[in-house]
Amino acid sequence: MDKIEQLRREIAEKEAELVQLRAQLVDAEKLSAGIENDKDEGEGEWKWPLAESDYERYSRQMIVPNFGLQGQLNIKHAKVLLVGAGGLGCPAAAYLAGAGVGTLGLVDGDAVEASNLHRQVAHSTDRVGMMKVDSAVTYLKGLNPTITYRAHATHLTPQNAEEIVSQYDLVLDCTDHPTSRYLISDICVLLSKPLISASAFQTSGQLIVLNNPPGKGPCYRCVFPKPPPPESVIGCGEGGIIGPVVGVMGVLQALEAIKLLVRGDHLKSRAGDEEAVKQVGMLLFSAMGDVPFRTVRMRGKRKGCFACAGDDSALTLNELKTSMDYIQFCGVNQPVKLLQPEERISVVEYERISRESKTHLLLDVREKEHFGLSNIRGSINIPIGRFTAHRGEGSELSDLIPGDVPPDAPIYIVCRVGNDSQIATKKLKDLGVDRNGERFIGDILGGLKAWKAAVDPSLPFI
Ligand SMILES: [Zn+2]
Repeated sequence: MDKIEQLRREIAEKEAELVQLRAQLVDAEKLSAGIENDKDEGEGEWKWPLAESDYERYSRQMIVPNFGLQGQLNIKHAKVLLVGAGGLGCPAAAYLAGAGVGTLGLVDGDAVEASNLHRQVAHSTDRVGMMKVDSAVTYLKGLNPTITYRAHATHLTPQNAEEIVSQYDLVLDCTDHPTSRYLISDICVLLSKPLISASAFQTSGQLIVLNNPPGKGPCYRCVFPKPPPPESVIGCGEGGIIGPVVGVMGVLQALEAIKLLVRGDHLKSRAGDEEAVKQVGMLLFSAMGDVPFRTVRMRGKRKGCFACAGDDSALTLNELKTSMDYIQFCGVNQPVKLLQPEERISVVEYERISRESKTHLLLDVREKEHFGLSNIRGSINIPIGRFTAHRGEGSELSDLIPGDVPPDAPIYIVCRVGNDSQIATKKLKDLGVDRNGERFIGDILGGLKAWKAAVDPSLPFI
């Protein structure tokens, strides 16, 4: 394993070195092309607005009706920032680089992991461990070495947001958490940048173009004034995601960006153009639905919006930098504390109980897909939803406890990290299954994560 780690590190270092060298090569090529262009102009040989190689590279999109040379020039002079170089950011960046966006910036503070690769198509197996922005730029330079890339190897924060976002004309939110969505929207409002926001979860996704034109279109807070409850927010790592679902959403983000840039929306707004604001729609994608794509019409700006109500708004650049706490605003998912210490046992204790093969029941309350990948031998899967949906006394108890267990056998409950297991334990006690303490019911502290760490490291997935 050490050897593998060492090789991965060495490859990542070499890749980073290659990124540097490629950047130097592109700069040198640009310099040399610039000198040749000047010479051409001087001799009157090349009098077209794009380089010869650009006509070759971009002609297939330039000949599309309403795109044309002007569309290409608008794209070439645009600077686009993608926040997040993951499932949305990889395909979005690939299409924007391919289309010839002049400057492409990527912000991401994470490194590539093997579990990213099924959907984050700009990364690769030999770049696991490398910063995502460097890995993505390596891929993008292979695709189109003629444009400028800026890698910001950091998370976007209230402190660095102004400095980073102010360098660009248009922003794509390719992140996966509400805290970053509100921050990105707020900074785009304050700096007058249009924002293309997308998200994806499991088999569905959504997409909306915000603050377009800046100051006139709604912002993220207009659409979602309140964050979702923290317990409902599950990252893609835990909730799961189908690769092409997030891929579709990233590709649609790139498409909206290209439409916006070709039309020149980002230029009009600066000139104070008083064009009517188009109706804003939110695109909903459901991969398993009968109707995969739907658009919901949105109301425009919300009166008195915290961020975008102009003079009435409470938000300023200084306020954002010094006193906005997005984590607090979105709420913190507190660990569940429902049980007393004597109602909980450690994984080591449970391991002893299972070795002594005393009659007992071990319920695993994770979702069945999780259970199907790895579980403790002898455990029975009853997903937590069955406990929370149980209507209480009078309803069938066999939904929660298999019928063939002696009525005095102790019941142990396990989940991923030890939160849901407490909820399930409490529910059984509320239903009187413990007969006022005669029968032991308790959960396993730290769940399967602790089990893998202390007892069985071979469990393949938690
Ligand atoms: Zn707003």
